[in-house]
Amino acid sequence: MTNKVKVSNLGYPRIGKNREWKKTLEAFWAGKINEEEFRTEMTGIQLQHLKTQQEAGIDLIPVNDFTFYDHVLDTAVMFGIVPPRYAYDGGDIGLDLYFAMARGNAEATACEMTKWFNTNYHYIVPEIGAQTPRLTENKPLAAYRFAKSQAGIEGKPVVLGLYTFLKLSKGFASADIAKIAARFLPVYVQLLQELKHEGVSWVQIDEPAIVTGINESELSLLNSIYTEIAESVPGLNIILQTYFEAAEPLEALLKLPVQGLGLDFVHDGGTNLASIERLGWPEDKWLGAGIIDGRNIWRSDLDAKLQLIEKLSVHVPVDRLILQPSCSLLHVPVTVQGEVKLKATVKAALAFADEKLRELGLLAAALEGTGEAAAALTASREALTAFRALPERGRKDVAGQVLGLADLPDQRSLPFAERLKVQQEKWQLPLLPTTTIGSFPQTVEVRQARLKWRKGVWNQERYDGFVREQIADAITFQEKLGLDVLVHGEFERTDMVEFFGEKLDGYLFTTNGWVQSYGSRCVKPPVIYADIAFTQPMTIKESVYAQSLTSLPVKGMLTGPVTILNWSFVRDDLSREAVANQIALALRHEVKALEDAGIEMIQVDEPAIREGLPLKAEDHEAYLNWAVKSFRIATNHVKATTQIHTHMCYSEFNDMIDSISAMDADVISIETSRSHGELIVSFEEQEYDKGIGLGVYDIHSPRVPAVEEMTANIERALRVLDPEQFWINPDCGLKTRGWQETEGALRNMVKAAAIARENAGVSATK
Ligand code: GLN
Ligand code: ZN
Repeated sequence: MTNKVKVSNLGYPRIGKNREWKKTLEAFWAGKINEEEFRTEMTGIQLQHLKTQQEAGIDLIPVNDFTFYDHVLDTAVMFGIVPPRYAYDGGDIGLDLYFAMARGNAEATACEMTKWFNTNYHYIVPEIGAQTPRLTENKPLAAYRFAKSQAGIEGKPVVLGLYTFLKLSKGFASADIAKIAARFLPVYVQLLQELKHEGVSWVQIDEPAIVTGINESELSLLNSIYTEIAESVPGLNIILQTYFEAAEPLEALLKLPVQGLGLDFVHDGGTNLASIERLGWPEDKWLGAGIIDGRNIWRSDLDAKLQLIEKLSVHVPVDRLILQPSCSLLHVPVTVQGEVKLKATVKAALAFADEKLRELGLLAAALEGTGEAAAALTASREALTAFRALPERGRKDVAGQVLGLADLPDQRSLPFAERLKVQQEKWQLPLLPTTTIGSFPQTVEVRQARLKWRKGVWNQERYDGFVREQIADAITFQEKLGLDVLVHGEFERTDMVEFFGEKLDGYLFTTNGWVQSYGSRCVKPPVIYADIAFTQPMTIKESVYAQSLTSLPVKGMLTGPVTILNWSFVRDDLSREAVANQIALALRHEVKALEDAGIEMIQVDEPAIREGLPLKAEDHEAYLNWAVKSFRIATNHVKATTQIHTHMCYSEFNDMIDSISAMDADVISIETSRSHGELIVSFEEQEYDKGIGLGVYDIHSPRVPAVEEMTANIERALRVLDPEQFWINPDCGLKTRGWQETEGALRNMVKAAAIARENAGVSATK
């Protein structure tokens, strides 16, 4: 027996180095390959991932982390949890049914999809009903056998824990969770028994739901689940894996009858180490020490990691320590190798999944004190030092502005009630004004034009000319429809964060830094690697042109600081708040430039504000405070008559109306299709005095909603909200829609507005 510390991985990215996983899925869905070809291709990818980890020297290689779509969906399907609308009769669950649940089919809508904790990964929400859970297949067992037979790997099956599985599911009252758990437990036991019988030594049971906070009864549920498992499957080594936050109360969790506990030492705010230092570590338990950041893309400070290991090893003997990433590497791109366009200093500072695995191996070697490890540590240290010393990461001008924040006013020049008067005077809008959220259809023609320009086939002038034509058409289109407040259409933007990232200082863009967002959909988040600063006007040209074409107001259109932050990979040497402030200061310039150019209605979108919310309720307030503050920094310096709009979507907002109000935007538009009536109800209970547009139709489907549907939505909202404050708009931007349906839907929306105005007893004239 050597005393060498073990190295583990919690999950490997599925998408493949060149997104071959995504391409295989999409080829199969499009009917370009058949099921056999699909399976062969997928098997090859899966094997490749195993071998990569084997070559990286990982001792505990995860198996069953691979999936054809989503691991939560896999778990539901494995237990036979298929909603009745798929008319499933209990046999094998084939790919057709599996993908129907993920994506819908002609007969049945897809299952709901939602965010995996505070990440940008989305899982399929299991719908638990009357089904009797049973093991339709033992997927972890199959994955274990595959790794063993194909690569000689003694894999570590990863299983989504029962507690977390139920916490993420819907279809039952939360008070019934223990009852439902009792129904599933025998199946979990069976699954684990089969693994044990096969000779599996370690199983990783993921229970991230623990970190969101557990009360007494949840703790006792966890206790009963793991006690039952321990009694029914003796001798199987279970590592109970948490991530994304501190596992609390650690004292109680340490008493659970499992052999190991996996903790996140990167995203826990230091709590996990502090708890261990306070409580010590039980002699008979393993610690899965998540020390390499599985959520971000930066090279680790290995000296700091070694110090952390040293602190841990005071309490945990090295032969009970497992070094691992803080969470599955699903949340980072595959490898830095392909990043040939970046400056060497910057590239050397990046670590994606493969590089992170190597860092773990290096740490283990360093603990053994090999000469090679010492040299590699030095090289890593040098790379980091060079990166940290980049002048663009320590700009005095940016630091000075951030310091100057304390002296900036933190309010608009007039409180809302008074602004409202001067704005009504200035804008003379009809009752229930109509508008849209910003983007108009991004047609193939628009996307091709941008591609030609990017490739240099079109010069700037030609491209600008094209964008201007699109804007002119959009303005005419909106005027004809009779909308009251117009937009320029965002034809010049591919993505609402990338567009600003490209124009701000402090961003870089990777070539191949893709991560899975949901299913086959991948995103390539831009990277904030240095200080963010304003360099050039970003939106003035298009907005001013659009406004020159009409006498109606055209809204300026920006993405807000919190959304820019939340949809980027962010440097990790500054707090998120500090980076948000830098972005806000840069946007503040843009807002001023718009106002100076005569654009006096300005929308600053914050669709992602809620998704930055910390997992633990006790941290919400601090986050919302700085998030709201950064929005205000970006917007509060405008004239009282200038109307600030904002837009939010993709979440439920009913529990943060106060924060939304504190942003002090004059008008907000919110998506309501997700929360249906709930959001409206929350305005019954909470005071909201500012302008508000609750989307009157759902833009996420190509169908044209009838006037009556929208009228019903408007009437429902007006039972709670004052017609004087209500705006009529779709629930989100229209860029994914076609022109035809957009025209139909907006025409009906304008009609619905006219009817609502009449019903409100006021004519539509200004
Ligand atoms: N203004 C953006 C648009 O209309 C808002 C997008 C969003 O809400 N995600 O596309
Ligand atoms: Zn939206």
